[in-house]
Amino acid sequence: MKNYDIIIIGAGAAGLFAARSALAVGKSVLILEMGGEPARKVAISGGGHCNITNSAAKFDRYFGRNPDFVRGALSRFTPESMLNWCYDHKLKLEEKTSGRYFCADGASAVVRALRHDTQNADIQYNTLITNIEKQNDMFVINEFCAPSVILATGGTSWGTVGVSDAGYKIAKKFGHSIVPVRPALCALKIAGADADMAGITLNAEIVIGKQSLQDSLLLTHFGIGGPLAYRVSLYDLNNGIYINLMPNTDVAQLLKNKKKTAGKRSVTSILSEYLPNRLAKKITDNCTKNIADVSDKDIEKLATRISKIFIPSDKINLHGLSAAEVVRGGVDTDDVSSKTMESKLCKGLFFAGEVLDIAGDLGGFNLHWAWASGYVAGMNA
Ligand SMILES: Cc1cc2nc3c(=O)[nH]c(=O)nc-3n(C[C@H](O)[C@H](O)[C@H](O)COP(=O)(O)OP(=O)(O)OC[C@H]3O[C@@H](n4cnc5c(N)ncnc54)[C@H](O)[C@@H]3O)c2cc1C
Repeated sequence: MKNYDIIIIGAGAAGLFAARSALAVGKSVLILEMGGEPARKVAISGGGHCNITNSAAKFDRYFGRNPDFVRGALSRFTPESMLNWCYDHKLKLEEKTSGRYFCADGASAVVRALRHDTQNADIQYNTLITNIEKQNDMFVINEFCAPSVILATGGTSWGTVGVSDAGYKIAKKFGHSIVPVRPALCALKIAGADADMAGITLNAEIVIGKQSLQDSLLLTHFGIGGPLAYRVSLYDLNNGIYINLMPNTDVAQLLKNKKKTAGKRSVTSILSEYLPNRLAKKITDNCTKNIADVSDKDIEKLATRISKIFIPSDKINLHGLSAAEVVRGGVDTDDVSSKTMESKLCKGLFFAGEVLDIAGDLGGFNLHWAWASGYVAGMNA
């Protein structure tokens, strides 16, 4: 039996960051990883450019039964801490939209930096852990033992990189509840979607209850995709959604004004100024009538078809786990300390990253959660 201070299950973003912070305070660390290499999701993140953090990473950008849980780790390891880590590793960053940082050297440079930081840990690859025993105060895993274990087994989405639900099963064995897991940050299938509109991208708004989101929306042959749909997929969609194809515009008023200023133009031609041509034609049924000849009542109806398209929940389905960037659900945070990431039910058992019931918004929030929770778990284990 070989002894370590800490055994970490999973060499993903959270596991490696946990190892890094534990090594920094002189702990001996063993990482057990089911795959053949570390940080496989980091390597494909951000379209190969790893959206590494977001300066807006605060609790209000996270989802789960208790999003407040992230406060502890996020205050101990801030987006600025992550930027400093990048500067220390001479990683070139690019701030694409405000606060959203990508690695200009590519995601593989981030993986190299993580490998560098964890070179003093023992790592055993191709080792799928399905069970952990606790004997007295020691955890026993295969031929290894340690007084502390960090479960950093991630979520079960995007299975092509190799994922497992064993982390949930191990947590359950030690008394933890698992919030049901479902795909998130994924496209939405919409029953009756018009395949002819596939490929159209536009800035749109989607309203879910009291929440309004604006971003780029992609119409697909099966429904909607792109950043806006991905962000919407994080929410509970039980009451349906409203899509607004011309946000920040009072469409009815705009068309009524056009009656006076451009009465001889067709409705379709006017709307083509504001919407992709193909979409404008579809919405107006390619109406060639002059706007001056369209009644105010019909203008109101048309405006609703553009800015208040209601999709009831029974017509919406999340794209499957295999095409989701993250999951919602996981180990219930109620039984985990937000200050240390230690289980409240089993001393010495820690959690980090997506295995917990925490999912972040699109934009670097999920990796930031992995870094921050990994950092805290590694410091305290
Ligand atoms: C295509 C894609 C793009 C993304 N892009 C971004 C982005 O740009 N920015 C962002 O913030 N987030 C992004 N994400 C999300 C982000 O990658 C994850 O939230 C993050 O990697 C989670 O880190 P983690 O360490 O908790 O889990 P993971 O990175 O999934 O790591 C878990 C590790 O544990 C191992 N493992 C699992 N079970 C076992 C077991 N039983 N025994 C041994 N090993 C096990 C796995 O092999 C894996 O290596 C993206 C996700 C995908 C799929």
